[in-house]
Amino acid sequence: MSYTDDQINHLIDGTLDWETTFRMLSMPKDGSRFQQYVAALQAKVPFKDRIVLPLGPHLYIVQKADSRKWVIQCDCGHEFCDYRENWKLHAAIYVRDTEEAMAEVYPSLMAPDVNWQVYREYYCPDCATLHDVEAPTPWYPVIHDFEPDIDTFYRDWVNLPVPERA
Ligand SMILES: [Zn+2]
Repeated sequence: MSYTDDQINHLIDGTLDWETTFRMLSMPKDGSRFQQYVAALQAKVPFKDRIVLPLGPHLYIVQKADSRKWVIQCDCGHEFCDYRENWKLHAAIYVRDTEEAMAEVYPSLMAPDVNWQVYREYYCPDCATLHDVEAPTPWYPVIHDFEPDIDTFYRDWVNLPVPERA
């Protein structure tokens, strides 16, 4: 089964109906669907660098058009770091560790005890997009998300050539 570009765009925007979303996500591995998905993302970003892998709704691993280096990059074109590094250490970080700051996101009495749990919000330093939120105990180190095995993903899951990297 294949999908229209319109449906893929709805998937990205989160406006696709649930039944179609479920069908798309439960399909067996399918390289053309991945290509279609990446092409739809690529059409929305303002930069020419090639999207290798989406990491979040507004965050990607891209292959730089000039150097062929792989970096982690925001929608707006802001480069965080090399794709193997922890981009959160290059983000603008806002920590909610007071009752007042928690009250902005939690209804009263529902907020966690800030002695035991804080919110860490990771923003793009250029466009202020919120890319991730952690809710760790206050002393827990900044979490490095998985390092995706991109070679295996391209080779075994979508059956496409791995983009070149410098
Ligand atoms: Zn940005």
